Amino acid sequence: MVALAQAAGDAGFVDKLVIHSPSSGALLGEAPVQTAEDVRDAVARARKAQAAWGALSVRERCHALRAFRHKVAQHADDLARAVSTENGKPLQEALVHDVLPFCDLMAYFERRAPGILAPQSISLHLMMQRRSYLHCVPRGVVGVIGPWNFPFSIPIGDAVMALFAGNAAVIKPSEVTPLIALQAKALWDEACKDEPRLHPDLIQIVTGRGLTGAALCTSGVDQVMFTGSVPTGKKVAVACAERLIPCVLELGGINPAIVTADADIERTAHAILWGAFANSGQVCASISRVYVARPIAEQLTARVVELAGTLVQGDPLNADNELGAMTFLPQIAIGQAILDDAIAQGARVRCGGTPNGRYFPPTVLDNVAHGSRITQDESFTPLLAFVPVDDTETAIRYANDSDKGLMAYVFAGDEEQGARIAERLEAGTTMVNNAIDSHGAPGTPWQGVKQSGLGQVHSAQGLRDLCQVRHVQTRSWLPWMSKELWWYPYSPKVYGVFLQAVKSLWGGGGVDRIMRAIGK
Ligand code: NAD
Repeated sequence: MVALAQAAGDAGFVDKLVIHSPSSGALLGEAPVQTAEDVRDAVARARKAQAAWGALSVRERCHALRAFRHKVAQHADDLARAVSTENGKPLQEALVHDVLPFCDLMAYFERRAPGILAPQSISLHLMMQRRSYLHCVPRGVVGVIGPWNFPFSIPIGDAVMALFAGNAAVIKPSEVTPLIALQAKALWDEACKDEPRLHPDLIQIVTGRGLTGAALCTSGVDQVMFTGSVPTGKKVAVACAERLIPCVLELGGINPAIVTADADIERTAHAILWGAFANSGQVCASISRVYVARPIAEQLTARVVELAGTLVQGDPLNADNELGAMTFLPQIAIGQAILDDAIAQGARVRCGGTPNGRYFPPTVLDNVAHGSRITQDESFTPLLAFVPVDDTETAIRYANDSDKGLMAYVFAGDEEQGARIAERLEAGTTMVNNAIDSHGAPGTPWQGVKQSGLGQVHSAQGLRDLCQVRHVQTRSWLPWMSKELWWYPYSPKVYGVFLQAVKSLWGGGGVDRIMRAIGK
């Protein structure tokens, strides 16, 4: 949404991207604004390189991709510093939230992709003389469009997922943070020198603003993986629908936490603190609104406020600092407007509240009215709202009262009880007694429901979704039969046979009971 606001002053495909450090304002570099023709050329080159890559076995691809993982891990410090410098997040977050999970994702799929993408046989029912199986075929070229809040782990992670599945990837990074993607591409090119099965054109970067992203959707790619705001995601969905190509949409959230009266206050306070303020609240999974059982509301709020007071905000490259600078200047005004609305509706600011230049302090509000903007609109700033509730049913109703459904959280003393609450929350993922980091578990699906997205990344299903899953059917027995019983010619006699079969197989008689007993 915010990058879109920047793109509103977009002069089209002209000019260039000039990138400054969010924390110091220093000039970091420039990147071209690439045209629709540039994008089409990149896709054509990617398609050429994909032919040989897609023909390799999954095992060979996994083996070859290790060279890239090695390069990334060997340059982890450089990459973390580059992410921190360009995005403004603390150095530790750049390493632990961007670089580390990327390496783990690669290692995870290197080991498991051959099994996940192996042909799967389907147990047939009535046509038991046949054999059916599914096999995964790469789609071709996948377009990846990324946001600025995880400028390394999201677009580069999506691209390697596409590669594990045998595709090539063309990445359009956010116009706010394009340099880290170019740095990753340089490492990819290095890896290609060490590993002859990797080709530089398998991963390509096209830089630019919204128009370059739109051009990628219409460039002939075979699938789009988009991460960004809901309004842009809808445009991407329309562009893909017109071409009948699949898209994965990972969009925004306004993520609730429910805290029951028996929750462990200390763990809950630490989890909510980190869940709300990591990356200065610029996380799609950030905890934004807490529905807390009234008897413990003040104790929990006070503890979070106390802990927030210990957080050190400053130069993101100083490894002691815990909050850095806001990545994108217009976001501060969006957060401020949502904060002002909450205060106007009676909320009390318990800490923080006044941004200082690019630094937005961790801000805790209580006495928040459910229904005010802070409980409905994604602020993407370090704003945290506490809403006391009288019972769990009210908490569940408020938590689900949103058009978005990315993440939800439950904090409960009894984890089983927490899981029962979690199952009733309308979110792609609900974590019990934990916060935001399930994106770091590559085996689990990362997905939103309602307006928060379509499809999923990560997980076995997410990998298979990057392929065409095709079905093959053969004959396994009765091969001497020259034709099936239901082929031509039709006759009253054959009709009678089938009628009898329907009645005896499914009409509740003895054969039906036998078939059920033998599991048919
Ligand atoms: P954004 O929608 O403004 O931009 C995202 C990307 O889309 C950018 O690269 C932009 O250039 C491109 N784009 C703009 N117009 C386009 C068009 N018409 N066609 C194709 N591409 C176009 O989002 P943002 O401000 O960069 O990111 C913040 C948003 O992303 C927040 O809403 C956040 O919640 C969401 N997000 C979601 C996830 C998730 O996994 N669900 C992860 C990170 C961020």
